[in-house]
Amino acid sequence: MIILDGKQTSKDIRQELAEAVTERKKNGKKIPHLAAVLIGNDGGSQTYVSAKVKACEAIGFESTLIRHDDSITEEELLKLVEKLNNDDKIDGFIVQLPLPNHIDEKKITLAIDPKKDVDGFHPENLGNMVLDLPGFLPATPAGIIELLKRYDIETSGKNCVVVGRSNIVGMPVSIMLGRNTKPGNCTVTLTHSRTQNLEEICKNADILIAAIGKPLFIKENMVKQGAVVIDVGTTRVTDNSRKKGFRLRGDVDFDNVAEKCSFITPVPGGVGPMTIASLMMNTLRAMELNGK
Ligand code: NAP
Repeated sequence: MIILDGKQTSKDIRQELAEAVTERKKNGKKIPHLAAVLIGNDGGSQTYVSAKVKACEAIGFESTLIRHDDSITEEELLKLVEKLNNDDKIDGFIVQLPLPNHIDEKKITLAIDPKKDVDGFHPENLGNMVLDLPGFLPATPAGIIELLKRYDIETSGKNCVVVGRSNIVGMPVSIMLGRNTKPGNCTVTLTHSRTQNLEEICKNADILIAAIGKPLFIKENMVKQGAVVIDVGTTRVTDNSRKKGFRLRGDVDFDNVAEKCSFITPVPGGVGPMTIASLMMNTLRAMELNGK
């Protein structure tokens, strides 16, 4: 069994990106600039956004964090998005989800200029993803694909089962692995809460991707011997022995599943760091796509 070390892989990618920044500086080119919009005080969102901003600084990207409390109106947020769309200094930006209930997330996503949509959530980018055209791939699925690529894991002809069909993880990763690409060419089954016989379906997976947000949901009896298991789940569960009072748990019962696997991602240290690395890669790409 080999652990898919997302932490180390993301470090390697950040090193490559830092070198690209140095090269750009040497050639008098613009330095990539990512802006992140954070609304409200959700603990998870604050952690994710600060990790993204820190990652930018560490590799020499410029970054701007824009914070608002959750009294911001939808109209005000739309105006902010418009401002960022038109700001030449900003190459890409993200609006951290979830947003407060009085703001329509779909409206905000649609308002982001697809050329700056480094989260890859805009329908234009999702369409490009489906057709394998240039654009931004959603960060978490792209991170999973990059991990499979860097560990040289064969995907062609394999049965891949994705558990969870969210617009940001399950649905896009199922499409990406079903395309005629490398990694790709899987026979994909996309499952969700209405799926029947999930255990049987999972047991047939050569590659099993869990993205549901239910700690330890995937048990040993659901995993085929020798499977590649990718655990996207990150749920905070109370743990008073920790300083923070919680620990992160994946969707996979790692302790009992790992021995059966050929490859498996840990939580934390698997898909999470790869998501941030993908966002950085998308930001550099934003400059290239926009001819800067
Ligand atoms: P989500 O929007 O929370 O949706 C959960 C999905 O799981 C839904 O499609 C749901 O089915 C499905 N589901 C729920 N219970 C199920 C069951 N018993 N059997 C089969 N499917 C079931 O999903 P998400 O936003 O992708 O988040 C999933 C997890 O990934 C969360 O823990 C989240 O924190 C984590 N995450 C991690 C990263 C990272 O970078 N590591 C990034 C994004 C998300 P229905 O559609 O039928 O409701």
